[in-house]
Amino acid sequence: MLALKKERCQKCRDERQIRFCLRIGKAIGYRCCNKLRVDFKCPNECNYYAHTPQEDEALFPSCKVDSRTELHEFMYLTIDRWIHQPMLKLDGRTAREIARKDQEEMLSFLLQYQIPASFPLDYLLKRLNITTHAPLPGIDDPESVAGRFFDLVISRRWDDLSAFYTENTILPNAGKYIAEILQNIPALNKCRSATVINCGLSEDQITAYVYLELNGKTDWTMVLRKVDDKWQVKQNLLGTPQDYFAQNDLFTQVATDMAQGEFEKAESVLYRFKDTYPDTADIHYYYGVYHQWAKQNAKAEQAFTRAVALESNWAMPLLHLGLLYMADRKFEQALTMFREADRIEPDNPVVLNNLGACYYGRGELNQAREAWNQAVALQPDFTPVRQNLELLDRDV
Ligand SMILES: [Zn+2]
Repeated sequence: MLALKKERCQKCRDERQIRFCLRIGKAIGYRCCNKLRVDFKCPNECNYYAHTPQEDEALFPSCKVDSRTELHEFMYLTIDRWIHQPMLKLDGRTAREIARKDQEEMLSFLLQYQIPASFPLDYLLKRLNITTHAPLPGIDDPESVAGRFFDLVISRRWDDLSAFYTENTILPNAGKYIAEILQNIPALNKCRSATVINCGLSEDQITAYVYLELNGKTDWTMVLRKVDDKWQVKQNLLGTPQDYFAQNDLFTQVATDMAQGEFEKAESVLYRFKDTYPDTADIHYYYGVYHQWAKQNAKAEQAFTRAVALESNWAMPLLHLGLLYMADRKFEQALTMFREADRIEPDNPVVLNNLGACYYGRGELNQAREAWNQAVALQPDFTPVRQNLELLDRDV
């Protein structure tokens, strides 16, 4: 876990040190490691030792890496050497010579081998001056998504960043809220560089994290989720991948405190961690609940709106936002929120009770009765709903 210490590489003094090099006896970063091991002269007791390719099986060496970025940089160095090496497989000629004379011959030679999707084939073809219209392996992996995200952060194009998050069909201005949240994160607002330290994939291959260093000093972790074969940003953390695993306990604690009426205690926890989880819906949702308790309705509305913008598939923020709209007699907007909450949690009597109340406020009495009847069927001892139904019977 060398990477968590933030100390610099003892060889170049620039990148972050992430492993101990047995060859030079220093703690180094992956760039220096790549430059050393590319000559295959590292001691093979090292886990990061580069293996020469097995004759007839692979064209390029393999080695352990901690990220796709590291692998690509290793391959770039390898390719730069490889293209100038006379090879037995090519009757003593170099790849460069063949490609210069006959691009087709070079391509068909390459295609005899299994080329892994993670191999930077585009770089190899570019170095060989080969132009091809054949489709190259896709580059929609977590690290390239993180790379594109940070390109936009560094050029301060906040409005373009919401495209990295799940599409939000509930809030028409979700993108504006996401841009506002991101723009107000100091670490992003001051970001001039983002370097990948390592990357990890969950066992089911649908969650990934990319651990980065911003401006050569700040820990940052991006969590991504694969949805419809596309990597989307799930959340950003001002911290290490360990903070991702710590959040469940944290939010459970906040929810427990609030359930016991300890709102100030809960708020102090939220305050301590709001910078660590800046675009996590939970932080904004629980802040909303706190402001609602403190009777700060405008702040509560802003916080719940942010939670919905970040996570539209969670019933609780929708329910709370709907209640605030109801209090302002904004029945149309409230109805959108309650309907969506009901779609996500169809058997929630509290949602149904409020959906009924919203219909009632709009004068749609039949729909109100239907929602309340459903709520009572789910929870026969739900007194407020029974009272609502009695009220309705008197009205008619
Ligand atoms: Zn270095």
